[in-house]
Amino acid sequence: MTAVTAAAAAAGANHDASPAVIDRTGALSILARCDELAAYSTLPNGLIRRVYLTDEHRAVNALAAGWMREAGMTTWQDPAGNQCGRLEGRTPGLPALLLGSHLDTVPSAGRYDGILGVLTAIAVVDRINTLGIDLPFALEVVAFGDEEGTRFGRALLGSRALAGTFDPAWLDLTDDDGITLRDAYSAFGLDPDALAPATDSALFRGAAARRPEDLVGYLEAHIEQGPYLEEAGQPLGIVSSIAGARRFAITVTGVAGHSGTPFDRRHDALAGAAEIVTLIERTARDAGLIATVGHLEVFPNAVNVIPGRVDLSLDLRAASDSDRDRVWTEIDAAMTALCSARGLTVSVTQTHNAPAVACAPHLRAAVAAGIRAATASPAEPLLLLSRAGHDGMAVADVTDIAMLFIRCRGGVSHHPDEHVTPADVAVATDAFEAAILSLVTAAS
Ligand SMILES: [Zn+2]
Repeated sequence: MTAVTAAAAAAGANHDASPAVIDRTGALSILARCDELAAYSTLPNGLIRRVYLTDEHRAVNALAAGWMREAGMTTWQDPAGNQCGRLEGRTPGLPALLLGSHLDTVPSAGRYDGILGVLTAIAVVDRINTLGIDLPFALEVVAFGDEEGTRFGRALLGSRALAGTFDPAWLDLTDDDGITLRDAYSAFGLDPDALAPATDSALFRGAAARRPEDLVGYLEAHIEQGPYLEEAGQPLGIVSSIAGARRFAITVTGVAGHSGTPFDRRHDALAGAAEIVTLIERTARDAGLIATVGHLEVFPNAVNVIPGRVDLSLDLRAASDSDRDRVWTEIDAAMTALCSARGLTVSVTQTHNAPAVACAPHLRAAVAAGIRAATASPAEPLLLLSRAGHDGMAVADVTDIAMLFIRCRGGVSHHPDEHVTPADVAVATDAFEAAILSLVTAAS
């Protein structure tokens, strides 16, 4: 048995959840760090809201950088405000396997979404550094500064910058106070003009964008944000792909009028919109994909006026872009027919379109090997579609990705009740380490 496989086997020998084992894996220290980061918030009373390019962002980057250095990494903040750390491989300058997730949050967030993935990655690099494993590639941890898009309304700004897909037009986005992204970068001490994708390879070195040839791949550990692991009684799962999402703004227009108007004279936009909502739910459910109408605005929204106009949103997600697009075509046609039968008109604007991202088979296999080693179970781990977006979606534009999902209580996320157990964090840390070691073995 080589040193590497011995270490992987050792990492896999401790799937029971005795306090001593949990403590040995460093899970309690990871959770204590999650608690420490949770204190950096713009909301009172223990609620968490930590957004891009703020004092809180600066503070958590500094903390993460300190932990990265303790784990043996050299550290820097990239031009997008992502906190990075690097452990060199057997010779300096080798391509890197990226390990990451994000440190920003939604308003009233939990303390694990994103954060747990960053801290697990740092803990695993610490272990690998301590073991003195001969690495055929470098390891880098990236703590992305913006995944949620809470401040500027556009998600994945940090990971898009790393992937070289940052659109300079985004610099004109504004936050709720009218501050542009460009000014926010400057106030944070960053040069906004360093973010645009560069074609000159010399420029790449100074900007956030990474070159594909400098990367081996990207692995992310993240809480599941769904109920499937809990229902299956499994602590860990593998992501098959990250669902592609399309979003639409739909406007149904009828005729506003007095509430005394007889039914045969009405063109009630809300009655039509209500049918559209149930049509969307029925069509998506029958096709086995996910659709959400989360926003509805009624005009004039008065108790004694027939609604003349309704604006509604649609968020449509599927594992495959072709399924999603086929279902959208079906919904669109049925919606138009339904409105025309009611004497209403409907107009649609697409506001977002992100393709589904498949995880790379060889990295998925490494994560599966990691889970099998850590849980000491020969069974094939649960394969899950991620219905939520993640940094990996953006990183996939520059390198192969895979994800490890960690069970969270009740599947609850984006909420203060977000919860993981120390035992699950322990086994996740072991699995993440074993996944990396299986890639080390494959590349050695
Ligand atoms: Zn997240």
